Amino acid sequence: MYFALLHKTARPADHVLVVDQNRADATYGWGVVFSDKALTFLEGGDARFMAVLLDRLERWDDLTIVHGDDAISLDGHGFTAIARLELLQLLHRHCAAVGVEMRFETRLERVALDEYDLVVGSDGVHSRVRDQFAPYFEPTSRLLSNKYIWYGTHRVFDTLSLIFREFDGGFYVAHAYRFSPRASTFLVECDVGTWNRAGFGTMNDEESCAYCARIFARDLQGYQLMSNKSAWTSFIVSSNARWSHRNAVLVGDALRSVHFSIGSGTRLALEDAIALHRAIQSTNSVSRALDAFEAARRPIVEKIIEAAGRSAEWYERFHERMTMAPHEFAMLRDPLGPHEPWPDRADLAALLGAVQPPERGQGILCNSLSRAGPCDRAPKTLLRGDGGVHPAVLHHAMRRTEAEIVHMIGNIEPAMDDARRNDQDVTDLQLDFA
Ligand SMILES: Cc1cc2nc3c(=O)[nH]c(=O)nc-3n(C[C@H](O)[C@H](O)[C@H](O)COP(=O)(O)OP(=O)(O)OC[C@H]3O[C@@H](n4cnc5c(N)ncnc54)[C@H](O)[C@@H]3O)c2cc1C
Repeated sequence: MYFALLHKTARPADHVLVVDQNRADATYGWGVVFSDKALTFLEGGDARFMAVLLDRLERWDDLTIVHGDDAISLDGHGFTAIARLELLQLLHRHCAAVGVEMRFETRLERVALDEYDLVVGSDGVHSRVRDQFAPYFEPTSRLLSNKYIWYGTHRVFDTLSLIFREFDGGFYVAHAYRFSPRASTFLVECDVGTWNRAGFGTMNDEESCAYCARIFARDLQGYQLMSNKSAWTSFIVSSNARWSHRNAVLVGDALRSVHFSIGSGTRLALEDAIALHRAIQSTNSVSRALDAFEAARRPIVEKIIEAAGRSAEWYERFHERMTMAPHEFAMLRDPLGPHEPWPDRADLAALLGAVQPPERGQGILCNSLSRAGPCDRAPKTLLRGDGGVHPAVLHHAMRRTEAEIVHMIGNIEPAMDDARRNDQDVTDLQLDFA
């Protein structure tokens, strides 16, 4: 739909048709979250649409990891979110305004490529367009083993919260964030063993909602979970060897799906639309445009697929790590940069073990690195927590050479101690990589 908006705006004389099996006032799920960074990637799109979108977004800085009795707050991220339906309806309105023809409640089973100049298969992870031309696109897919269900709630979360809970011998994580001033996404995930033991397979919608509300009772603070025809499922990781066939091209989830934990699927779909639009504008040949689209997008998409794969793997095994101390646990979660590699526990231990005692006077923690440095996330929460090395530090660290990492980690704790002893505001400390 975003491609339709961009194309029709640029070439008003073209007939642009969007076919959607859903009603105009329905979608699956609840809200979607974007990182601040993701929004900057979308700036090259439709300026009017972006202005309205930016105005509607919920915003916050922190990510909170809740584990046991601890809530570990990490800031310097910058997130925004919106209800899926609101985003879609914004697109509908903008498309209607420029004259895109939209046919809702129309399911497409097959498409005749000869009838169109260009066919954009943006029909999601169960794409019919992809399946119709499967021998050409060569799709692959696999199911992750974890189970998840996408609920909403009127408990309004201040930050993106990853809430890890043990309940009745099972391990659960909720991915929760507000997408409007009155409601939040509350996605519940667990390993398949936990899911089987809890008996979710035989529960109806109401029972499943009630059970999940009991698991997260202290986090929901009396609010209910809301279902939007929500059903337990496993995430489908899919991709295609080829992105186009003749005048048909795939975008969004039809092209590839990225695990929801990195909150990038919608952003990727919108970026695909922008890139495809640019490619189409750049030449009169559809086939050259589709080649250019793939050449421009593939390297970026592959990086994100890789990061999403790592993140998905982390969640597939989170239940094995639930016995770790909260802070240690939080360190191993990829809390800041979904696209950054994170050390596994053994690597982390080796890393920390390699730290030499710091020399006095080396100095230290950072506010100034923040926006201007190699990491653009403000690190003032480096100094929060229980006095251990904060995950944010490692995040910075992992972008640097081993020597720099060792140097940096070795200097953090003494600096904090000094600051505390001198009653100094720790957020004013500076981190020195020299
Ligand atoms: C649990 C979960 C949480 C997520 N959270 C986030 C998040 O926080 N942030 C984020 O960026 N991304 C998130 N994502 C990913 C995001 O939802 C998808 O990447 C995004 O919706 C992809 O957009 P799309 O337009 O390609 O596909 P979809 O949004 O799936 O849209 C496909 C459209 O095609 C229509 N359609 C399908 N088949 C047909 C047919 N045969 N005929 C006609 N119409 C058809 C459907 O009705 C639908 O309207 C999440 C995904 C999941 C599963």
